[in-house]
Amino acid sequence: MTQAAISIGHYLNGQVSVPQTGRSQPVYNPATGAVTGHVALANAADVGVAVASAKAAFPAWSNLPPLRRARVMFKYLELLNANKDKLAHMITAEHGKVFTDAQGEVSRGIDIVEFACGIPQLLKGDFTDQVSTGIDNWTLRQPLGVVTGITPFNFPVMVPMWMFPVAIAAGNCFVLKPSPIDPSASIFMAELLKQAGLPDGVFSVVQGDKEAVDALLVHPDVMAISFVGSTPIANYIYETGAHHGKRVQALGGAKNHMVVMPDADLEQAVDALIGAGYGSAGERCMAISVAVLVGDVAEKLIPMLAARAKTLVIKDGENLDAEMGPIVTSIAHKRITGYIDLGVEEGAELLVDGRTFTGANAGSGCENGYWMGGTLFDHVTPDMRIYKEEIFGPVLGCVRVKDFAEAVDLINAHEFGNGVSCYTRDGHVAREFSRRIQVGMVGINVPIPVPMAWHGFGGWKKSLFGDMHAYGEEGVRFYTKQKSIMQRWPESIGKGAEFVMPTAK
Ligand code: NAD
Repeated sequence: MTQAAISIGHYLNGQVSVPQTGRSQPVYNPATGAVTGHVALANAADVGVAVASAKAAFPAWSNLPPLRRARVMFKYLELLNANKDKLAHMITAEHGKVFTDAQGEVSRGIDIVEFACGIPQLLKGDFTDQVSTGIDNWTLRQPLGVVTGITPFNFPVMVPMWMFPVAIAAGNCFVLKPSPIDPSASIFMAELLKQAGLPDGVFSVVQGDKEAVDALLVHPDVMAISFVGSTPIANYIYETGAHHGKRVQALGGAKNHMVVMPDADLEQAVDALIGAGYGSAGERCMAISVAVLVGDVAEKLIPMLAARAKTLVIKDGENLDAEMGPIVTSIAHKRITGYIDLGVEEGAELLVDGRTFTGANAGSGCENGYWMGGTLFDHVTPDMRIYKEEIFGPVLGCVRVKDFAEAVDLINAHEFGNGVSCYTRDGHVAREFSRRIQVGMVGINVPIPVPMAWHGFGGWKKSLFGDMHAYGEEGVRFYTKQKSIMQRWPESIGKGAEFVMPTAK
């Protein structure tokens, strides 16, 4: 039985708010193509309500001892663990990624909440006793006020949780603008925060598109913007936000390479390329989209890779044996198909053609979903658009290079620098690779090296605008400002005005 489409609204002042008028857009289950909901699209007035409630909540929330804010996070952690599968099902229903992968997404978000539970320690300042006779100097970190997060479709739970647990625990009030493609999880996360004891207004959700984003970018009460999404929009957010005096971190797109050295274990390398290339239908900012095959690796590895790419288990992500689900939208499906057509025109050799896999192949009920199989190209060259541009789908291209130096030069010349991986047994090669590669997150025999909660996430080059990475200590720094205090008491103050810079006495 098909279910009636639901209305997905905002979360304002501690309540779900479904507008009766105004713009909205359909939400689909990408596996079936069915419309499962309609999400409201906020205008500037809706954004104004969210920001005003956040501003009103800020004095009391920021004044609460960090330990008490941490206790809300501890409670939230419990609730998230209890509702992990419910969140994962919501992700699969609107994004399409397989349920087990969605569970992993929720877990990686929970990691950040665990990190945020340590906020009293993270906010601890420095103290220097007796910088001069009778004078002490110390630093502390204070929250910014109202901060906002604008997030992409591909991790509707994890990416918002890269941001708001740290921001809120540090004493800020947070307005989330999720992707309208998979908006439901954001509302559920807000409800769990309220159950955890978070005061109304500290966390709000405004659903929407460019109109809502633009209202946030220029709002005078928004102090900082965290963005994750594609590079052109990241660039726009960075420039516009900075122009309006806001602190901005804007994480952009990617083209992640995996180098396979001749001494690598080829079976392990194939497993890694299959999982990292086609997992989540290639719609991960850390997905591997280019295999860089060094020396004679290609001759041996490509037949193994092609055989595996042809036998991917592709079906509705709710099936526990599914390895890959559908593409997120019909628009994305068209874009990816266009890139496969282009690769053929550009002269790359199409070894496995994902265009032949349709909804009918995915199983009953999937006929109208957005399906394709894994695609594999060989003989991709650096001048091709399928090499240069982010495809963001299950399309893996193989580039052949003669040696390690050529592999490093190739990767360093690419405009993106999000993630990279190198498969080798040689410690010296691994060390040289880690040091020389111009990419923010490096894996040695690890295909998707997403840093842990306390290390911080961020790419280089056009994969990150701004200098602060998401979460970890950089996240704490991003959402706080440092204050330095110098103090003395009347007994230590000498008589007379001082006209020169004080020196240590
Ligand atoms: P997107 O750039 O289309 O959208 C991201 C956010 O920006 C959404 O909330 C969207 O509503 C908003 N937005 C879209 N167009 C806008 C416009 N013209 N003006 C203002 N706001 C706008 O990205 P997406 O398709 O949702 O996500 C996929 C992209 O995100 C890929 O490029 C992927 O590499 C990237 N990504 C990067 C990281 C990272 O950490 N670097 C992580 C996840 C995803």
